[in-house]
Amino acid sequence: NRRYRKTVIAGNWKMNMTATETKKFAEELKKIMPRAKWCDTLICVPACNIQTAAKAFKDLRISVGAENVYFEEKGAYTGEISADMLKDLGVKYVIVGHSERRQYFCETDTTVNKKVHAVLNAGMNPIICVGESLEQRETGITDEWIALQVKSALYGVPADKLRRCIIAYEPIWAIGTGKTATAEQAGEVCTNIRATIRSLYGARVARSVTIQYGGSMNPKNAAELLAQPDIDGGLIGGAALKPDQFVDIINAAN
Ligand code: PGA
Repeated sequence: NRRYRKTVIAGNWKMNMTATETKKFAEELKKIMPRAKWCDTLICVPACNIQTAAKAFKDLRISVGAENVYFEEKGAYTGEISADMLKDLGVKYVIVGHSERRQYFCETDTTVNKKVHAVLNAGMNPIICVGESLEQRETGITDEWIALQVKSALYGVPADKLRRCIIAYEPIWAIGTGKTATAEQAGEVCTNIRATIRSLYGARVARSVTIQYGGSMNPKNAAELLAQPDIDGGLIGGAALKPDQFVDIINAAN
């Protein structure tokens, strides 16, 4: 599978880490980071720390990502940050549609789709989050729900831009709870996500897309999750705040 697509290990710091803590994290990481990496590595940080992170992570060959973006190009949107602003700071990846944003900040499939277009148009890579609630899983509608989220997020995205999209499967019930989906559960959904992409774009495009798992990924379960044929990386919250744990997960992907 690595012949066709990249393995991408991404941290998602959420609303954690000050600029000062960011520098300290990078210093600790420097001591333990493996020399050779077979995966792309990045950390998505709060917008106000992007510049600090870009500088601190440069020698570590860790790219800096953003956790959110606004979809309009510019103008009277007090408090918002555009794709061009992120791009100008050296951002390569932007998380779009994280379940916390859908839950607390009124993000919908429509706004997620607009943000995906904004990120792609600015030349960056969206990490598009999808995932079902526990209730949806127990009702047996996970596959339909995820397929709908994927299709809505990718609406109007041409095939040549799809290669820049990463899909992150994050079951909501597994985020920050310590409950991971079993490797089989997670692998099955990721296989279905690839099938959805195949139905929209064909087999060649589908096999080139990186699909991550996210939700309580840690050094203990990473290798097993990453061994699933359609899981090509991880989106890591809690464990990405600890340098040793983040490095252990990178090593598991190596
Ligand atoms: P977690 O978060 O690893 O702390 O569960 C993952 C995420 O929300 O991206």
